[in-house]
Amino acid sequence: MSSTANPFDYVIVGVGFSGCVLADRLAREMGKRVLVIDKRNHIGGNAYDCVNREGILIHKYGPHIFHTNSREVFEYLGKFTEWRLYQHRVLASVDGQLVPMPINLETVNNLYGLRLSSKDVESFFAERAEQRESIRTSEDVVVSKIGEELYRKFFKNYTIKQWGLDPSELDSQVAARIPFRVNSDPRYFTDSYQAMPRYGYTHMFENMLDHANIKILLQTDYKEIQGVIPYKHMIYSGPIDEYFDYRFGKLPYRSLEFKHETLEMEYFQTAPVVNYPNDYAFTRITEFKYLTGQKHAKTSIVYEYPKAEGDPYYPIPRPENTALYHQYQELAKETRGVDFTGRLGTYRYYNMDQVVAQALTLYKKIVQRESE
Ligand code: FAD
Ligand code: UDP
Repeated sequence: MSSTANPFDYVIVGVGFSGCVLADRLAREMGKRVLVIDKRNHIGGNAYDCVNREGILIHKYGPHIFHTNSREVFEYLGKFTEWRLYQHRVLASVDGQLVPMPINLETVNNLYGLRLSSKDVESFFAERAEQRESIRTSEDVVVSKIGEELYRKFFKNYTIKQWGLDPSELDSQVAARIPFRVNSDPRYFTDSYQAMPRYGYTHMFENMLDHANIKILLQTDYKEIQGVIPYKHMIYSGPIDEYFDYRFGKLPYRSLEFKHETLEMEYFQTAPVVNYPNDYAFTRITEFKYLTGQKHAKTSIVYEYPKAEGDPYYPIPRPENTALYHQYQELAKETRGVDFTGRLGTYRYYNMDQVVAQALTLYKKIVQRESE
């Protein structure tokens, strides 16, 4: 480790996507000496994957599917991994049937035993859509496009289960992640780049961190090194409210419990993910072999059970939480020597590619700052 005479240039708290991108850029491009720290016993944050006892590659913290419209992000990560093209598909279990999600032409036809064309289904949605004065909440987004009945079948109960809140209590951005289609496109995402790191996320992170200037310290809370390991600057990607000792109160996060199982069968379900909006305490079941393309005689699946307490997985997008975050954000701006980034550090419901883009932007700011 470092001596007091030679402090690290940067300590990075959190070795998820945010931490790995910044460590890579600072070490490789600027020649900085970097220490990355995580309280967990592995790198990768929530995107960590590993091979389980049966030899199947699984995502410890639930399904992570990479998709982006940013060529910059895709090409940047491509320096550290080969890609395996993968287009994600989800089915929803509704009224005893497994139907495509996002809702599309097939979903409507299968659910109602109809043979509508794209044009017909457009009218089907339009006839049911309810006018809303403004689209503020997740309920508004859905009901204003497809009406109350489909909203109740696909969105209301899933959202209550996932967030512990009614869609009318959540910002529109939550449900707006899911489109509605009048064609038969079964893909969950339509981004220009959709692929999985061929040898897994952890392998990609290892490549990002594989540099003589980067040291890794795991199973260590950053508070443990304060005053012990000298450094000049900190980048923090943990929960922002925790950094400030909850001065303005706790920011709410939604947590999950993951129940992993390996089964003595080649495949368990007919799609990579099956959502269960209305039944069971879990929201969805993921079967990893579809995501990773691995061939194996057995199969591994994970159930996601939403919880109020536990590791902070999801910032909860609603006005009062954003207002509370803004108080912390103001404090962060006044805090010299620390940059806040990532899903937890900036309290944003960000996908992996957005976190990478945010970290690359922060890196550009650091370059600018250091050149002044
Ligand atoms: P994280 O990965 O959360 O890393 C933060 C790290 O900081 C953690 O490892 C934590 O242990 C560490 N830390 C916190 N506090 C401290 C401390 N005091 N001291 C030391 N270390 C600390 N995105 C997609 O694009 N596609 C998907 O399919 C997708 N699926 C998801 C499914 C689930 C169930 C979840 C929860 C998220 C999903 N995401 C997905 C989002 C994705 O996980 C995040 O965008 C991304 O991992 C965030 O990276 P990060 O570096 O900001 O944070
Ligand atoms: N959603 C829903 N029913 C579904 C799928 C999604 O109601 O079958 C809503 C729900 O509120 C969910 C949000 O849309 O939290 C975003 O879904 P996404 O699959 O993007 O969630 P994530 O993968 O981030 O958990």
